[in-house]
Amino acid sequence: MAAPNPSTDPNTNIPEYEYADANSNIFHIGSFRNEWLNRLKPSNYSYEQEDEDTFDANFAAEMGISAETLSDLKSICSPDSLRCHAEDQQPDTEVVPPDSTLRTLEQRKKRQDYRASLKVSKNRHDLYADELERLTVGRKPEAMVDMVPEGEVILTINVYYSVTFENFSTARPHVTLLMTGSHSLAELRDAICCVSDLQVCGEFSHTPDMAPEFISKDLYKSAFFFFEGVFYIDMRYPECQDISMTVIEWAKSHGFPPYSQAKMEDTRFAGLKVKVGFPYLYCHQGDCEHLVIITDVRLTHANDCLDKKLYPLLTHKHRVTTQKCAVCHVYIGRWLTTNDQFAASDPCLFCDKCFRMLHYDAEGNKIGDFMAYPYVDRGAFN
Ligand SMILES: [Zn+2]
Ligand SMILES: [Zn+2]
Repeated sequence: MAAPNPSTDPNTNIPEYEYADANSNIFHIGSFRNEWLNRLKPSNYSYEQEDEDTFDANFAAEMGISAETLSDLKSICSPDSLRCHAEDQQPDTEVVPPDSTLRTLEQRKKRQDYRASLKVSKNRHDLYADELERLTVGRKPEAMVDMVPEGEVILTINVYYSVTFENFSTARPHVTLLMTGSHSLAELRDAICCVSDLQVCGEFSHTPDMAPEFISKDLYKSAFFFFEGVFYIDMRYPECQDISMTVIEWAKSHGFPPYSQAKMEDTRFAGLKVKVGFPYLYCHQGDCEHLVIITDVRLTHANDCLDKKLYPLLTHKHRVTTQKCAVCHVYIGRWLTTNDQFAASDPCLFCDKCFRMLHYDAEGNKIGDFMAYPYVDRGAFN
């Protein structure tokens, strides 16, 4: 994001580093987009590829060379000049030729040999990530109405694990999402998956079948983002409460600068003022707090995923190891028990099957004394 020196250019709509390598100064996303559009020719950000002759003519003019020189350069630099096999022969591009002296091929052979030595070449997560990328790069929508418009901005947003999971305080981002300038903050909220939303609060040892009806996400819908002194609250549902008011009033009574509030469903990224690289806050389920960092704001490109329906587009997801049942060590833990005479530890994790086999008779009656709490593994979104 190259920008002119702020001392000579007072334009505050162009991001400049506020702290070197950390974050930019504050700028308005929609105005930054306009700065780009004012400086570029429409052909610079058009999805249409120029035909080859036009491209060549423009390129030669820009480089100050003649058409003949360009055509010479093109033939010398053409991949065809690297051909090492007969023209009618189609080589297998996966096979590295023996006795190759080209460094890149040596590296490639090493990598191929290493991969072949592994028992499994790719786990299902890597396969899924590859598939996701293959499906989205340069993807065009079926209907024109779903096309991301030319000159739209794309934001890269990192969402971090909740600080309530201490193990993850130094972890990489949980997810990285791409969103456009016309997305609202409510759409970002809906794209963030957190196990806190799936927790079931309460003790259910007498009625284990009742537990799934009490998911936190359905009970406690309030949430907010905090960007640059403004609380963006979720007020889409009648159950939503303004959970930012307590902080705003506390700040006011303690002499802090005043904070304001707005609705996240009414706020689009293009209308936001932000700092790129600066940690902002997403808070839900009372005290489940996530850092949200916008790491890039740029114009769309023909090679981007251009299908609006696939946004917010997930480009990275961190995986965590799941905690398995203490009995079978196969299935992911679903129940956590305490004061449990059948358990090897206190508390203890069980999968649903082992939990019920150990703690209930054939009629489903509770056997013995124990407390049982539904457990949602933090790897639930792996
Ligand atoms: Zn959370
Ligand atoms: Zn089990």
